[in-house]
Amino acid sequence: MLTVSHDPAAVESQLLGRELPCPRCEGRLRPWGFGTARVIRCGTPVESRWFTPRRARCRGCEATHILLPAEFACRRADHADVIAQAVELGAAQGLRHRKIAAILKRPESTVRDWIRTFKTNAPAITEAFTARVHRATAEALEFWPAPAKTAVANAWGMLMAHARVLSQLHGTAAGTVVTMTWHQAALFAHGPWFFSPAGWPDSVQHQPALPRQR
Ligand SMILES: [Zn+2]
Repeated sequence: MLTVSHDPAAVESQLLGRELPCPRCEGRLRPWGFGTARVIRCGTPVESRWFTPRRARCRGCEATHILLPAEFACRRADHADVIAQAVELGAAQGLRHRKIAAILKRPESTVRDWIRTFKTNAPAITEAFTARVHRATAEALEFWPAPAKTAVANAWGMLMAHARVLSQLHGTAAGTVVTMTWHQAALFAHGPWFFSPAGWPDSVQHQPALPRQR
């Protein structure tokens, strides 16, 4: 599974241009039909949307991969915006999962799972994304977040810094300004397992599959 652009046309053009990297080897991906249709719960109040992911096959190792747009997280039935909002309300505003569940109109157990998973992964997230911010720019200091009180807030601060770095890098290449949310940037960098317990501590997606700016 690979996180790709939310724009299907951009993904098609990447597939045809052999621009999408295989998450397993150095090979490139080509179109290979579609995955199984699934329902995604979007927004507040909940609006269910059907979605059929694109599938691709590596020219090198011949493995097939589901291409998941940056709006979706692997093994989560809710839109990544909603999960990210829950994490943000918890990390930045310190709200408890019951309150967050009421705000987002989601089951308490679901929200508790999102928050717990993020909390468990927080130290690994901070470490991985600190390294990414360092690697990405010589002017990393400009983006450095101030230390926060909790591990969760520190992780979130570093993810915000990472999104700013990625937006700047991606924008500068084409002379345009790109704004990327922290969770889109995180999904692009780490892969669709970002919000799942299975995705940590090891990174799954070794290079971001960002489309070129036109
Ligand atoms: Zn491969």
